[in-house]
Amino acid sequence: MANEGRVVTLNASSYNTPPYCCSCGAPKQTEIETSRSQKRGNVTTTLKMSFPYCGPCAERARAYKAKLIIAVAVAVSIAILVTLLVLAIPALPLAVGIVLGLLAGVGGSVGAAIGLRPPIPLLPATSRGEAARILGFDGIERTKVHVTHGHWGDELARANNAISQPSSKGDNFLIAPILAGAILAPIGAIGASVAAHPTVHVDNASTDAVDVFIDGKKALSVGPDANKSFDLGYGKHTFGWAKAGGVAASATVDAEVKIGEAHLYNPGKNACYWLVADLYGSASVAGITQGAQPIQDFYRFSKVDTWFGDNPQSISLGKGQSGGTRVALQRSKSCMQLVVKGCSVEGRTALVNCQRAAKVDADFDKCIEVGEAACGGARGVAPAAGKGPVPASASAPKPAPAPPKKK
Ligand SMILES: [Zn+2]
Repeated sequence: MANEGRVVTLNASSYNTPPYCCSCGAPKQTEIETSRSQKRGNVTTTLKMSFPYCGPCAERARAYKAKLIIAVAVAVSIAILVTLLVLAIPALPLAVGIVLGLLAGVGGSVGAAIGLRPPIPLLPATSRGEAARILGFDGIERTKVHVTHGHWGDELARANNAISQPSSKGDNFLIAPILAGAILAPIGAIGASVAAHPTVHVDNASTDAVDVFIDGKKALSVGPDANKSFDLGYGKHTFGWAKAGGVAASATVDAEVKIGEAHLYNPGKNACYWLVADLYGSASVAGITQGAQPIQDFYRFSKVDTWFGDNPQSISLGKGQSGGTRVALQRSKSCMQLVVKGCSVEGRTALVNCQRAAKVDADFDKCIEVGEAACGGARGVAPAAGKGPVPASASAPKPAPAPPKKK
């Protein structure tokens, strides 16, 4: 368009406008209020100004705004659809989800923005939408207004003793929808993909390296007395294991991997576990699973913060928090001692059942004997008097947790 726009710097609290349409120069029929918000520090200032329009140009300016809202809504909808799609297909690998999000987000929003962008109007109209916009203000007495109709801009400057400068600024119709789609869709796809692939920990307590099979396919190897973790799409899976080098799983278990939960595969039921819940500040462990866990191939916990170690001495609290809990998953020391002695799963189950029923420390101590008896006298290795097995990690009274360190 040959008609070059203008930038006029005005005092927004008192300004006069020429009595003509700021887009086409026809006599004024109505006014349109335009606004701009600026943030400085914590204070957001919104400035509103009204400019004259003829009927058809005012109609076009309103249609432009409506179409811009629709274009942004389309871009946001595409992002939501991509997010739901990635969430619905747990078999979709992370990289595919991200690429899908990027392509759909950019492609969809660019398509929507270009498709919905109002056409350039016939002369003498000069703008697809609003013909006078506030570009910014440095105090309201220095408010920059962009006008698409050059002559009207010069008149505006003259009426206010201001200076008008040429400006070839275009309209920004494409920016908001394209940014919305190009940013939100990949973020949604990445978030959904991460959520759809919960972490599964594999703990190999045996003295041999093992291969782990997921749904019949070899997925990873775990060394002797070691653990590893990997991400797996949520849903039902068959977990299997074999001694390293095995072609197929020698034992399998079917289990479900769920979004937002903690998962542990215990090949061959070789290990036994204990959940330690620690309190920091004013918090409650009510409803948190803790203590000896039944001996299983596969576990699903609602919350594990620390895997195979101790919870931290202190935690950082967010705003408004007065305390928190952390749950650690550890191998049960008392039970692992029976494992070392070659005790059967049945013997260890007796120990765990006793520990789960125990209420006080004295009960816990007796459980060691119960377990050893169930193992068949611990294979004849009688513990020396007064030098019993080391008590289970949690049978000792826990010291009060250190007060949380506030950041
Ligand atoms: Zn007009």
